[in-house]
Amino acid sequence: MLKFLIAMVVTILNFGCSNLTQKKEQPRSPSSNSSPPVSHLTATELAKFSSLAQSQDSKRLHLLFSHLRKAQILVSTFDQRLEKAQKSTQVDALLRSNLYCKIVEVRTINEEIEEKLLATAKGAYQNGHETTAWFYDQLVAFAHEGIAHQVAMIQSLRVLNNQASDLCGTPNCILSDIKQLKGFSIPPLDNTAFADFVKANKSLIAIQSDSNKSDLEPGSCFEDTKRFPNQSQTYDWKNRNWVGSTLPDGHFIFTYDDGPHKVFSQEIGDAWINAGLVKPTFFWLSKNIEIYPDVVKKINAQGYIIGSHSDRHADLGNLTKAQSPDDFNKVNKHIFADELINLAPEDFEEWKNQVLDREIVRAVKQLSLAIEKPVRYFRLPYGSGTKQSKIGDLFQRIDVDHFFWRVDSLDWQDKNPETIRDRVLTQMSSVKSGIVLFHDVHLQSLEATKLLIQAIRDSKKWKAVPLKALPGLKEGIQ
Ligand SMILES: [Zn+2]
Repeated sequence: MLKFLIAMVVTILNFGCSNLTQKKEQPRSPSSNSSPPVSHLTATELAKFSSLAQSQDSKRLHLLFSHLRKAQILVSTFDQRLEKAQKSTQVDALLRSNLYCKIVEVRTINEEIEEKLLATAKGAYQNGHETTAWFYDQLVAFAHEGIAHQVAMIQSLRVLNNQASDLCGTPNCILSDIKQLKGFSIPPLDNTAFADFVKANKSLIAIQSDSNKSDLEPGSCFEDTKRFPNQSQTYDWKNRNWVGSTLPDGHFIFTYDDGPHKVFSQEIGDAWINAGLVKPTFFWLSKNIEIYPDVVKKINAQGYIIGSHSDRHADLGNLTKAQSPDDFNKVNKHIFADELINLAPEDFEEWKNQVLDREIVRAVKQLSLAIEKPVRYFRLPYGSGTKQSKIGDLFQRIDVDHFFWRVDSLDWQDKNPETIRDRVLTQMSSVKSGIVLFHDVHLQSLEATKLLIQAIRDSKKWKAVPLKALPGLKEGIQ
């Protein structure tokens, strides 16, 4: 054990002392049998690195990386299935499949995973060069475990780079470290090279299709909850859950969720307007509306359609189906942790009703107050809870329509604008018309939007239309 620790310390120290250029020139020390020299280690350095190795930080980081790899594998599998889909019905089925449910499940914890990754990186940068070197050492070592690992780690490096100022003080402080990392098949921040690499290695990254046929079967996450025998269906899910399939061929509605964001929402909107195209639609969270009232005010004054995306982005489908807090998935456990501590089991159902009221009814009211007009449009976080009776009852009560999608950019996982654009265009070509899902809280979504706008203008066969263009949508006030 001590030998391993010393070996690890020396790896880290060599890495640290000689800057990142020395990285990966030699096999990693733990796999080397030669006894490393230890004479240059001070007692303080030894203590620091020993505690790093013993504190489980490496294991924890490996676990985070594994989550990110899983997300990458599922998204690459989605892309591969998309390529094989010939008809629009096959793409529609893909977005209701077991595979898509798995993607949604990973999506519910992805934000938390990325936050932990950023927090670890920030801690490493604050701790000094040796700890930063340890962080990158772990990341590169994970990348070496396989192609999917490498792609996931490149996505991670992009996450770090997008948050550079917060992590280490300047917009370029991560960039210089990334440039010096050895062992990646392509430069991690080269968009085109990355897109080509992912495409060339898709079958190695994706789940093998033959062994997982059930992936394409209807997903259980979209099943309705059973109604009580005497309960009548109040909400017309069939006609009020829009995906855009009734639009004329070539027509698409572009939507952005999870904002408002302090800069990206406006920049995304401007990108569409400056290209002479129709404004996109936003579905915003009340928690963010509270943080950025000025953004709301400005964008609303510019005449955008803004719908509600709930308050805190809980998984309302999971919440509705849960018999007890034990049934909650990670995102709900995280969001409701404080409220669940003192909740008596007999109060659970009543508490759930209150949460649903807060996340749907009150969120709509709050948005309505902020934009000073009635809100008639809603989108459930993760699309979860779509077609569930209990949620439909609330929609009925406040008279909102629900908007799902036919084209998913998967821009929360994919940090490369080129592959995001390609994924969207592939789906647009297959389904011919529909609602497109993006998020206005990521840099890559803004960049992908710009590339997509260029593609739309070049091809002349696509037309961006406003949400109100949906044939049959009840005339709204917005
Ligand atoms: Zn969302």
